[in-house]
Amino acid sequence: MDGVYVIQKHAARTLHYDFRLEVGGTLKSWAVPKGPSLNPAHKRLAVQVEDHDLRHADFEGKIGAGRYGAGNVIIWDRGTYEAIPPPTDDLSIDVRLEHGVLEFRLYGEKLKGRWRLVKIKQKERDWLLIKGNDEYASRTGDILRDRPESVVSGR
Ligand code: MN
Repeated sequence: MDGVYVIQKHAARTLHYDFRLEVGGTLKSWAVPKGPSLNPAHKRLAVQVEDHDLRHADFEGKIGAGRYGAGNVIIWDRGTYEAIPPPTDDLSIDVRLEHGVLEFRLYGEKLKGRWRLVKIKQKERDWLLIKGNDEYASRTGDILRDRPESVVSGR
C-alpha cells in the first residue's frame, strides 16, 4: 500500500527540510537540518517531530511572524512511498518505527529509489536518513543546490 510522501523546505529561524510519510492516517515527520543527500555515504540527521495532519502535505506558503515555525514553506518534493517489505499485520510500519528501522522506496519528482530511516540508539528523537545503494544514488552533485525549487509552484 502506498502512502503520501512529502518534503517541505522550511525557511524558519534555521533552514531545514521537513520529511513526512503518511502512516496510519497521519504524517510522521522528521526535521532534516542538512536536507536529504543522494550519496549513500551521507547519513543525514533527521529529528523526529510531532505528527502533522495529512492536509499539511499540501501546504506551501508563509507561516506568519510570531507563530510556531514562522517563515516560508515550499513543497520541495512529493509523491508516494512504499515500505520495504510491504507491511503486514505482524510487521506494520508503526512496529518498524518502534524498532527504529524503516526501509522504503520513494516515488517523488526529485527523490526516488530506496531510502531508510534508522534510529540512533539512546536518542529518543534522533534518526538518520540514508540513501540506499541503487541506480538513483549519486556520489557527485548536490540535489539541494541543483533542484532548489518547489515542485508545485516552481518558486
Ligand atoms: Mn519545519
